[in-house]
Amino acid sequence: MNENASYVAVHAAPLKELARAIIGRTGSSEREAGLVADQLVEANLTGHDSHGVGMLPRYVEVFRLGRLKVNQHVSVVLDGGALLTLNGNMGYGQVMAYEAMQMGIERAAEHGAAVVGLSNSHHIGRIGHWAEQCIAAGMVSMHYVNVISQPVVAPFGGRDARFVTNPFCVGIPRPHDEPIVLDFATSRIAMGKVRVAMNKGVEVGTGILLDNQGDATRDPRVMFWPPFGAILPFGEHKGYSLAVVCELLGGALSGGRTLHERSPGREIINNMFSIIIDPQRLGTAANLSAETAEFAAWVKESPLAQGADRIKLPGEPEQDHRRERGAKGIPIDPTTWTEIIGAAVQLGLTRREVEQLAGLG
Ligand code: NAD
Repeated sequence: MNENASYVAVHAAPLKELARAIIGRTGSSEREAGLVADQLVEANLTGHDSHGVGMLPRYVEVFRLGRLKVNQHVSVVLDGGALLTLNGNMGYGQVMAYEAMQMGIERAAEHGAAVVGLSNSHHIGRIGHWAEQCIAAGMVSMHYVNVISQPVVAPFGGRDARFVTNPFCVGIPRPHDEPIVLDFATSRIAMGKVRVAMNKGVEVGTGILLDNQGDATRDPRVMFWPPFGAILPFGEHKGYSLAVVCELLGGALSGGRTLHERSPGREIINNMFSIIIDPQRLGTAANLSAETAEFAAWVKESPLAQGADRIKLPGEPEQDHRRERGAKGIPIDPTTWTEIIGAAVQLGLTRREVEQLAGLG
């Protein structure tokens, strides 16, 4: 069977139009709808469908439950110059993280570095997007993120879920080349990728999931139907320990919360602790650039392992996806497409309007 048979392929520009229209129907300003749409479609473009437009139905659901607030801005809890503590007021994370990074970039330009704690924001999506905002301003950045939602990841040595997929991200600009963007969930796979597997009706790999008894399984449905299973952390005790650090820096040092009970809600709250550094002000920008080039060339000369086509740097798979999907369009699986139409219809758009906005009509 051709797995792609009933996929729809939508180009980035019309997909943004559609996402903008759906978010606009939640009462968002044009700016807000644009920021949300841009970030979701960028996640699709970079190959991370788990954090792309497939999130729209969840956002609409949380909005309709009254938990996601529209047209919010970050509020400043503490302004210490290079140190900023911000509250995201349960607004769209795409706006909260954008505003937090803008403020952090301005402070880093002024002081050389900035530390930004952002708490209590709704889902901030693909974290690499925020590193890319810093990169565009010539800044190196590090981001530690936790998630307040239903626990889905088991601790190393545990049998049930106690925290979420706590992403970690580092962005390094390269003036004459593509930047380095390390950006991953600290679970074996991101929760959204389990959803993508379930929507495609395929199993996940081995060593990724536990069932509700804490035994190994490949069935993605254990994460969506009770009694729930758990995803394992990546990298055994090391990945688990990084998840703990993301929980504590992202969820506590930021001014936010850590997960210590089962959340009954459908909202996805993100807290993010970011460190933003201006390499020019540190006096090491030229060194960073030259050494990165030397190192990149050196590692890429390693003989290829079986099955590898080239050695990539963090960020390269996303650049590859961006080129390919920018040209061919973004494939959306039938389940996700049906869910998006359902969410749009709940907000008063017709199926025909959805298809027209997506350039399919
Ligand atoms: P992933 O497993 O695809 O890993 C992505 C990272 O690994 C990128 O930095 C990529 O460039 C790098 N990479 C991949 N293949 C590589 C290769 N062959 N060589 C060198 N580098 C390579 O990502 P993931 O864990 O599935 O996370 C997906 C997205 O989910 C991320 O953007 C993350 O921010 C996001 N996320 C968000 C939340 C949230 O609460 N907002 C939670 C979890 C994950």
